[in-house]
Amino acid sequence: MKNWIIEEKEYNADKQGYYETIFTLTNGYMGIRGNLEGSKRFFLKGTFISGVFDKGEAQVVEIVNCPGFSDMDISIDDELISIDECSILSHRRVLDMKDGFLFRDTVFEDRKGRKTRLEIKRLLSIYDPHLYVMEIGITPLNFSSRIKIASYIDGNIENSEKNSSKKIKHYTVDNVNFSKGEMGILKAATTDNGTEVISGFIMAPRNFNAYDRNILLMGNMVHGEISFNADQNRTVIIDKIVSTYTSGDADDVAGAVFKHLEMNKDIPFEEHLKRHAAIIRHKWEISDVVIEGDDDAQLAVRYNIFNLMCLGSNLSGNTSIGAKGLHGESYKGHVFWDTESFMLPFFIYSSPENAKKLLMYRYNRLHAAGKNAVENGCKGAQFPWESADTGLETTPKTVYLPDGTPIRCWTGDEEIHVSSDVAFAFFEYYTVTNDREFFLKYGAEVIFDVARYWSSRAVYNNERNFYEIKSVIGPDEFHIHVNNNYYTNYMAKWVLLKAWEIYHEFGESGWASLNRIKNSMKINDEEVEKWGYVGRNMYLKDDSNVIEQFDGYFELKDYIIEKYSEKGMPILPPNLKNEPDFEGYQLIKQADVVLILHLFNDRFSEKIKRMNYEYYEKRTTHLSSLSASTYCLMGIDAGKRDMAYKYFNLSSRVDIDDSQGTAKEGIHAASLGGTWQSVIMGFGGFRLTDGGIKLSPWLPAQWKRLKYNVLWREDIISVDITDGLVKLFIKGNKTREHSIRIFDKIYNISSNQETVIKIKEFQK
Ligand code: BGC
Repeated sequence: MKNWIIEEKEYNADKQGYYETIFTLTNGYMGIRGNLEGSKRFFLKGTFISGVFDKGEAQVVEIVNCPGFSDMDISIDDELISIDECSILSHRRVLDMKDGFLFRDTVFEDRKGRKTRLEIKRLLSIYDPHLYVMEIGITPLNFSSRIKIASYIDGNIENSEKNSSKKIKHYTVDNVNFSKGEMGILKAATTDNGTEVISGFIMAPRNFNAYDRNILLMGNMVHGEISFNADQNRTVIIDKIVSTYTSGDADDVAGAVFKHLEMNKDIPFEEHLKRHAAIIRHKWEISDVVIEGDDDAQLAVRYNIFNLMCLGSNLSGNTSIGAKGLHGESYKGHVFWDTESFMLPFFIYSSPENAKKLLMYRYNRLHAAGKNAVENGCKGAQFPWESADTGLETTPKTVYLPDGTPIRCWTGDEEIHVSSDVAFAFFEYYTVTNDREFFLKYGAEVIFDVARYWSSRAVYNNERNFYEIKSVIGPDEFHIHVNNNYYTNYMAKWVLLKAWEIYHEFGESGWASLNRIKNSMKINDEEVEKWGYVGRNMYLKDDSNVIEQFDGYFELKDYIIEKYSEKGMPILPPNLKNEPDFEGYQLIKQADVVLILHLFNDRFSEKIKRMNYEYYEKRTTHLSSLSASTYCLMGIDAGKRDMAYKYFNLSSRVDIDDSQGTAKEGIHAASLGGTWQSVIMGFGGFRLTDGGIKLSPWLPAQWKRLKYNVLWREDIISVDITDGLVKLFIKGNKTREHSIRIFDKIYNISSNQETVIKIKEFQK
């Protein structure tokens, strides 16, 4: 199992917040934080259901921290056996990423000298998204006694629980009918929409028959108590089976829960694990990346991929992946450009069905995007900077600095590049999959609607004869109200010209659904010509040198980063703490111009890439975790390879090493995707250019081998890189010829046979 497990080797109370995130289990439908059972010293208890949002008394709509069901109290003769109460003789937790479950093994010694081993396995099933199972094993090591497990569903959980001024309960509990036979049930309904969230559970003894059990209601908690005689050195095994449904899943929600529990209660944990693991292992067959020679990198990359695979499971087409996954409350469960620009490529290249569902989440919110545009005096579709259930803008207008000072947050008003990012994602999906039907049915409409938005948002400068986009925030959020941000203008231009091109190219080929879109959007030829005109005349900064990030950027105070922390983060002057402090400086939060060089990498010369990389790298603080992967990718592309590995580590280890200090708040989901891109497109050298697939791998010195797969249209391309050799195997139903550029030479490669290419110029 080397390089497949993440391990907590000893208990450290101060690190529990970190482990709660690292050991979060998610099946895409739900996320359960890795809280240690029985411990009251937690950072945040968390049970989240994708798409279950509520505003209630909160500042804005946020993901609901639902009633939790992982916790339990275990006692021997009324004496609690827990990490807070006992001496800990040994403690270990392991996340097994190959099969996707969490395992805990703790040996306690209580005040009376009794030693007890507690082993718990947790599984949140991908096979059956409503199912959560825990296998609890208790072994008295030096005594025999009566043991009681009080396990519960906790309807006291609140959002921001540890913050007395902000804590909010987003649901009410109906505790009238809390049991049915041996099953306990807790019915909750969200404040605003009354969305029912119902969880039920049953404790199922597996290897003993004599026990007492009871279901009790204690305030907002439904307890399932079970007590039994335990003999020295005999492990008693009990499964806790939990079922969760919402009113989005069933009409009779409680009925669905009971039925589901009945169906599953006699199935042992191992069988549930088998079904779940079969799916995970199947996903690994395509998505695993093998790195030889660098165990740390291997493990970190697997951790990133594992979380992406899980978060991308069980999507509904009305749910997406939030910036913190389903791993924490931070960013309120909101969806940002992180999904389309950073995570989506992983799904496009490994599970296009899931990519499609993520895209449908946006398509199904086009109407709301229209309302956002109107709200801002524009036409077309303006996707929200922060999106939740409805697709309306949900960015808070006020945010608070660490010392509590409120400041106006402008990203919801000005970080408008997100609309282009969504449009670009639809086209990227189409280019890779060649799924014309999906593209013409949904993608084209999104691109048209965003083009319409830009054509209404851009303003003509009569003196200089071009279109400008004013008062925006680019990816670098340190600078607000800026004009002509290069990233924003470049992406807007791309959308406008692409919309024009699609309309003409497909229109001429008798595209059937064009009329539907024309009618529903009321588009005419004149409007499309205007998109082309605005696109062609969109102002872009001079790109023959270092590209200015926005009007006036070069006039700002300069500061060059020279010192880095042990974890590789820039050390900044002490007066620069909070985002507003950076406004007058050329220091930037994250890749901005450099991101365009990555996205359109074949449109810029190596010289321009290098010049810009060198300039901006020294001025980028990486205070957003989205930054590092772009600097890894472009480090390779721009001939700054010494930088690539450093930034790869920063991206792939942001949560494992907690380099931003925020891991406890939830996973950095964008950097999961950025890491995948760094490995496949960066070191693996797999790039899609206007001329087709290009492969130009480069491996860091310690990497002896890199092996990965990508789905390409109907085929799977397996790439296996070792020193001086690239082996390709393209697997498909039919034998086809693929034309692939490897470094500077084009090879015609047949599918279903191995092709080995020796590369002289391939050096480390
Ligand atoms: C970054 C954004 C990102 C957001 C959510 C911010 O700190 O600057 O680019 O979308 O976090 O991850």
